[in-house]
Amino acid sequence: MREETRGHQYDFLNCQHPSGPVPKLPATSPPATVPADSSKPIELEQIKAKTEQQEGPTPTPMPEDKRIGYALVGLGHLTLNQILPAFGACTKSKVVALVSGSPEKMQKVATQYGIKKESCYSYADYDKLRDNQDVQAIYIVLPNGMHAEYTIRGAQAGKHILCEKPMANSVAECQAMIDACKKADRKLMIAYRIQYEPHNKMVREMVQKEQFGKVKSIIANNGQNSDNPKHWRFNKALAGGGSLPDVGLYCLNTIRFVLAEEPTEVMGYVHSTPNDPRFKEVEEQVNWLMKFPSGVQASCATSYGHHDDKSYRVLADTGWIKMDPAFPYTGLKLETSQAQGTENQIIQHNIADKDHFATEMDHFSECLLANKVPFTPGEEGLQDQKIMEAIYQSARDGKPVKLESVTKKDAFRGEEPAA
Ligand code: NAD
Repeated sequence: MREETRGHQYDFLNCQHPSGPVPKLPATSPPATVPADSSKPIELEQIKAKTEQQEGPTPTPMPEDKRIGYALVGLGHLTLNQILPAFGACTKSKVVALVSGSPEKMQKVATQYGIKKESCYSYADYDKLRDNQDVQAIYIVLPNGMHAEYTIRGAQAGKHILCEKPMANSVAECQAMIDACKKADRKLMIAYRIQYEPHNKMVREMVQKEQFGKVKSIIANNGQNSDNPKHWRFNKALAGGGSLPDVGLYCLNTIRFVLAEEPTEVMGYVHSTPNDPRFKEVEEQVNWLMKFPSGVQASCATSYGHHDDKSYRVLADTGWIKMDPAFPYTGLKLETSQAQGTENQIIQHNIADKDHFATEMDHFSECLLANKVPFTPGEEGLQDQKIMEAIYQSARDGKPVKLESVTKKDAFRGEEPAA
């Protein structure tokens, strides 16, 4: 094996270089602790001072044949760009089947990810997943208006369901999904990735521990300039609504998660630019207020018509917490401010990113393996849907809408994931 290096010939096999022999270095394994239990991480030797930011434990993937097998339904942007690559970071989940309306696309994806030809299904053949023993869970990544049907049919086919947000188009659909999964004795989780993500989890912890005293206000925004009026996101039957159920939902769901409380009243305003072809059926912009039992007031905005902004700020007695950006897949930033004597101490918390989709899928897999209630079950999606319907109603009626009082904390969530 020869390679030209800056005009010199280097013989890799014999380690000969025109300037003389290259020394051979001994190949060794540095000391490492290797626990017999495969779920415990291998501990490598220390290379950073204890005072430096540490790497965290090495991953502990389950053996391939023990992981939960997923069928992905819908091969659009989210599936191709985020979910499929995320399986590489999963420790308890693997992709084993696909459902799509495009045989060419599906065949290509199956080849890329090593999925068996016989585990690729058209929408017409969806119910045949029942006979595929490799599949324990179905991840529904279809337009919102199709979530209810595919959840119900998937549960009836004997599979557990992870469904993308928003859960569905209406409270009635959400309830039907919960009922169908209960009847089939299958688990249902809504893919609220933010509730499994370390930055937002840290905000929740700071708020719950009252690190900056009592929270008074939260201001949240999630908006983007969307295009292509022909896309299903601008079709009411397929999308359910416009910016509110698609991106505004992040503000609503994250605030509920951070506070662990439920709003008692909402006031909403809806606006769409007249004659904009995108907003013939669904709304462009929603601004809304929420009142919580603890006295926290939240002010939220969402839009399909302004430049990308995804952020929120928690304002408390003695400090503030800022997440900007708060909701993208990577690059989240958490900053806090607190006065220290004559100084205003502003801290940027440098938290390592975790793949949001791998984390949420592994949580669902853990729930199936250990028979636990998912942290974000169907009831969590139903509650968001109830609140969104109240926001629309308030905007239509021009007055605040009261919501059913919920006093229990984390009323609709399952067991909190360990890490
Ligand atoms: P997309 O348009 O890129 O993909 C949708 C897929 O559904 C496509 O493969 C399309 O072929 C298929 N489909 C089947 N029947 C269809 C029909 N009648 N009309 C249109 N498409 C049809 O959409 P996406 O961005 O991947 O979103 C899919 C789901 O994922 C939505 O519910 C969305 O809210 C959710 N989503 C979640 C996140 C998140 O961060 N959790 C991000 C983006 C999207």
